[in-house]
Amino acid sequence: MKKSDVLELSFEEMYNVDRPTLGRKADVSLIRALKLSIIEYLGFNAASKLYFAGMHFGENIGVKSIDDMKEFFKELGIGILSMASENPLKLRVEECIDCAGLPNLGKPICYFEAGVIAGCLESILDKKVKVVETKCYANGDDCCEFEVSILNTKE
Ligand SMILES: [Zn+2]
Repeated sequence: MKKSDVLELSFEEMYNVDRPTLGRKADVSLIRALKLSIIEYLGFNAASKLYFAGMHFGENIGVKSIDDMKEFFKELGIGILSMASENPLKLRVEECIDCAGLPNLGKPICYFEAGVIAGCLESILDKKVKVVETKCYANGDDCCEFEVSILNTKE
């Protein structure tokens, strides 16, 4: 498995948690606060940077199928992933960690999740894909939905 260029940690290494009292639990609001502060810090093009960060992560998880992705999303508490449509390929995320319950901000905000989906699908299909979030709790919708364009074979 490829390691992150910056932190030199594989997903398996990150997954190992040694917290006898607190265990694996952390509140969703912490994830949201972290994400919002990262967006503020990244400034220009933050959405695209988060998308590519998610893609890098997604590529390196080692999922082999959409069913693996569903399991991964559930296990990590990202959300409940399902197929909304096969052609065009659309994936739905309910109970999204980033945005479920947020007020209507007038736009989709799950750039990282879109990237994770893209990275997972690229490793499953061995093709370049582009993922665009078309529905989002933060856009007044009742789920997040991601439309997938399959571009071509990876070079
Ligand atoms: Zn969303």
